[in-house]
Amino acid sequence: MKISLARRIIIALAVFAAGMVLHHTHSIPESAELPIFLAAYLIVGYDVLIAAVRNILRGNFLDEKFLMMIASVGAFIIGSYEEGTAVMLFFQVGEWFEDRAVNSTRKSIADLMDIQPEYANLVTESGVERVDPEEVVIGDIIEVLPGEKIPLDGSVIEGSSSLDTSALTGESVPRSVSAGDEVFSGSVNINAKLRVCVTKEYADSTVSKVLELVEDSISRKAPVEKFITKFARYYTPAVIAGAIFVAVIPILLGQDPKTWIYRALTFLVVSCPCAVVISVPLGYFCGIGAASKLGILVKGGNYLEALAHASAAVFDKTGTLTEGKFGIDKIEAVGCSEGDLLKLAAMAESGSNHPIAVSLRRSCSEGFDYSRIGSSEDRSGMGIATSIDGKTVLAGNRKLMESEGIRVGADESAFTTVYLARDGEYLGRIILSDMVKEGAKEMVEELESIGISRTVMLTGDSKAIGEDVASKVGIGEAHCELLPADKISHLEEIIRSKPENTNVVYVGDGINDAPSISRADIGVAMGGLGSDAAIEAADVVIMDDNPGKVATTIRIARRTNGIVKQNIVFALGVKFAILALSVVGIANMWLAVIGDVGVAMIAILNSMRCMRTSIYGKK
Ligand code: ADP
Ligand code: MG
Repeated sequence: MKISLARRIIIALAVFAAGMVLHHTHSIPESAELPIFLAAYLIVGYDVLIAAVRNILRGNFLDEKFLMMIASVGAFIIGSYEEGTAVMLFFQVGEWFEDRAVNSTRKSIADLMDIQPEYANLVTESGVERVDPEEVVIGDIIEVLPGEKIPLDGSVIEGSSSLDTSALTGESVPRSVSAGDEVFSGSVNINAKLRVCVTKEYADSTVSKVLELVEDSISRKAPVEKFITKFARYYTPAVIAGAIFVAVIPILLGQDPKTWIYRALTFLVVSCPCAVVISVPLGYFCGIGAASKLGILVKGGNYLEALAHASAAVFDKTGTLTEGKFGIDKIEAVGCSEGDLLKLAAMAESGSNHPIAVSLRRSCSEGFDYSRIGSSEDRSGMGIATSIDGKTVLAGNRKLMESEGIRVGADESAFTTVYLARDGEYLGRIILSDMVKEGAKEMVEELESIGISRTVMLTGDSKAIGEDVASKVGIGEAHCELLPADKISHLEEIIRSKPENTNVVYVGDGINDAPSISRADIGVAMGGLGSDAAIEAADVVIMDDNPGKVATTIRIARRTNGIVKQNIVFALGVKFAILALSVVGIANMWLAVIGDVGVAMIAILNSMRCMRTSIYGKK
């Protein structure tokens, strides 16, 4: 049977207290004290000793368990049984406290993970059947009753209801959906029954993606750990050398050996880096937790650290600063009807997931025959070329037409325009309008107010539109008519000119800009609209596509980093003070032990403040 650490602490504490009472009342001979304290010591600390010995055998003896072992064993050897036991006892109290803190953090992140659906109600010929979500395939129809979680991504075919998406996006206002709307797995159906046609298998559905990301982020704390291992690699030997120094020199000078060995051991206890070792990863962990609660997935503590030092923010336009949901403003057809032109455009775009393509398909109410559509070729950043009825149909911007030698009339309006041509013949154009996202302007203002003064927009769209959007959201610098490769070279230029030790953030939707997302110091993807490639490439994913969350993420990062720093400064400060006192003999091992555990506890509690989200407002 394995006895929990808490129980062992309590038992050891009782034995220890008994030993203290017996010792101070002189009720037992001194020779009987050793077994009592040794029992308490082993009950509470046997696993630490085993771990320390195991580490030594592996040739890696530079951790805090090792320090604890020599300090406590040393104390026993010089006859300070009480101190030796107390060191181990309090060390374990600290460990227990750390466990609790980590678990409670994990639990709050797990609350977010309460999005995992247990079943799907599959509609079959013989009625509705409850099945494992993993068994459902694309095209299946599922039913979602009020109160149930949507198990797979799909589009509503029947019914209208409101969805609670807060677990996914942090947005508390319910979203109303009806036939034709897309729904994401992990949201909860609130009022009425919905029938949904599944569009993604479980493994590709939002809920699986989110769970995967969150799990990865918890395990990925490498750079922080690296820092600590590096720290321990120099720190621990330095401390041990220091302790030997403290003991040996005075003894050589003829001082009392016992006093100085005691002081050296105290020195070891004080220098145990527990507080730092514990509180640094915990702080980042809590920061990630806070972000997840707000619907922002940060893929690791290292990215929070990097974000805290952001000096420039670069944005994509369509889908990032603007809705990416285009309405049709005007259709100008040459030699065919407007309806036919729109239908042709929708057919040509059937192979693209660009927001323009999605919007055109949505606007075309007429059905069409997919067998007429042949292969299509993506002209990244310009449009698409699709074979329809054996003829090549081009749909895209002016650049695309020019690259194919097709002349189109002059036009510099501030509207996104899709030009169409078939086999080299110009057929007309569809003028679309997009809207700047709510919160984009406020976000840019907020970035400025927290000192990120360089904001840049990179877009593949025309100059007139680009500049219009930039001025609407207050972005200082706009570069337009860029192909994906041009976006990268602009981004690299910005990275080259950034102030030292700062980072450049790129925010995009991953459509034509996934390479930029991965090239930037920190890549942020709009998770709802964005492509899977973007979510993969990004370091931070904003689940509900709200641009305001870019500023929020940076604020979380700064606060988290600030708290982590406070802990490091505080812990090291207190340690150095006690260290100095221990060398001159003012601090004894008691103060050292209590100081160590006390500092660790305060640091842990301080780290947990990173979890609070209320200070970031509703956004
Ligand atoms: P942004 O930088 O604004 O997000 P993109 O790089 O995605 O823009 O695309 C640049 C431009 O290329 C768009 O503004 C549009 O004019 C054109 N374009 C790209 N893909 C398509 C498409 N599938 N259909 C029509 N036009 C497209
Ligand atoms: Mg885009």
